[in-house]
Amino acid sequence: MDLDVLGDRLAELTDRLTGNYPFFHPRYAGQMLKPPHPVAVVGYLAAMLINPNNHALDGGPPTAEMEREAVAELAGMFGFDTHLGHLTSGGTIANLEALFVAREIHPGKAVAFSAESHYTHARMCHLLGVATRSVATDRFGRMDPAALNAALATGEIGTVVVTAGTTGLGAIDPVDEAVATAREHGVRVHVDAAYGGFYTLLAGAGAEGLAPEPWHAIAECDSVVVDPHKHGLQPYGCGAVLFRDPSVGRFYRHDSPYTYFTSDELHLGEISLECSRAGAAAAALWLTQQLFPLTPQGLGAVLSANLRAARGWAERVSAAPELTLYQRPQLDIVTYFPTVEHPTMAGIDAASAAVLKAGMAEEDPVFLSTLTAGRSDMLERHPGVGADADSARVLRSVLMKPESEHHLDWLQDRVRTLARAATGS
Ligand SMILES: *Cc1c(COP(=O)(O)O)cnc(C)c1O
Repeated sequence: MDLDVLGDRLAELTDRLTGNYPFFHPRYAGQMLKPPHPVAVVGYLAAMLINPNNHALDGGPPTAEMEREAVAELAGMFGFDTHLGHLTSGGTIANLEALFVAREIHPGKAVAFSAESHYTHARMCHLLGVATRSVATDRFGRMDPAALNAALATGEIGTVVVTAGTTGLGAIDPVDEAVATAREHGVRVHVDAAYGGFYTLLAGAGAEGLAPEPWHAIAECDSVVVDPHKHGLQPYGCGAVLFRDPSVGRFYRHDSPYTYFTSDELHLGEISLECSRAGAAAAALWLTQQLFPLTPQGLGAVLSANLRAARGWAERVSAAPELTLYQRPQLDIVTYFPTVEHPTMAGIDAASAAVLKAGMAEEDPVFLSTLTAGRSDMLERHPGVGADADSARVLRSVLMKPESEHHLDWLQDRVRTLARAATGS
């Protein structure tokens, strides 16, 4: 190998990476993106140099053990008394596994999820050949219990997916009410907490506490998904699925002539759909949990700062004449749009898009993201808006870095200025 070529090409690579948005910086207030915590990087790197494969104990007993320990911590966080679970490459695959098990338990029945649930549920149900039902949401983006009740009364549904923290708005479905209704109908409940799951640490806790009922009800559900690569400080490649009933392992049964030979103990590949998985992801999560335990004071302290940031910015937005809050944040996602005179869907859409674009082009840039709101969603929240289009983009900022809390005045100032320019006010 020619080290000069390596030096040159590495320089090119690092130069090309500067084409990324500055996810680490407070001026990035857009999507659900941030770098992993240095502790996770160290844990990942230490194990990755060995490159264990957590498919089977043959591929790396220590990281398989760390995975079992880390997953047990996650199960404890959700209050599961018993569990079977493992890490996955992400939330989509973790949800696929939960939906797969749901199909095996209720063959021929449909899966219901809210109109605000993650788009991959419909896609994965299509893949599994399972019918779906969409359940309406209320004006905070939460699943409407009456609509769920009506859907379950048809007898066609075998499983309901509730979302604890929707990806668009951070809305928390009423898990407690959904479980109660589902149980009356003998229906399974899966919780998609890929984005919001770790916020259960703040259920009822301290000044930033969240209403505990939906979070505590997760303990009664049949399965739950959480993404350590979203709010668990991990690099990508780390989701998790947990089942409350360990006997669902029977649905994964398979033979492999070339693995599972060093130990009679359970191999993680025997209870997961994926084969090879990075043992490094388990090592990183395990190490992170040692430094940021799953307690209100541990990882919860990071999440509290996010909540303070989101609530603090929402207050500032509400107070500014140039900006209108789309809806009050429930977790760390703030949604808003430039205040336009005689507001219409098309006018709000154009002004939001202009702020997004101008923000990134400035010398002192700010990076936001958008959310497409449907006509009825907008009118429920803002009845005065003229319905001249089917949808309107509004601005959306996920404040998932604890540092953001200290940069709200700057963010607010930048966005107000951009909104004034976009609306000519
Ligand atoms: C992000 C997300 C997913 C998908 O997870 P990936 O890790 O991106 O595959 C599913 N559901 C919810 C609620 C999410 O926020």
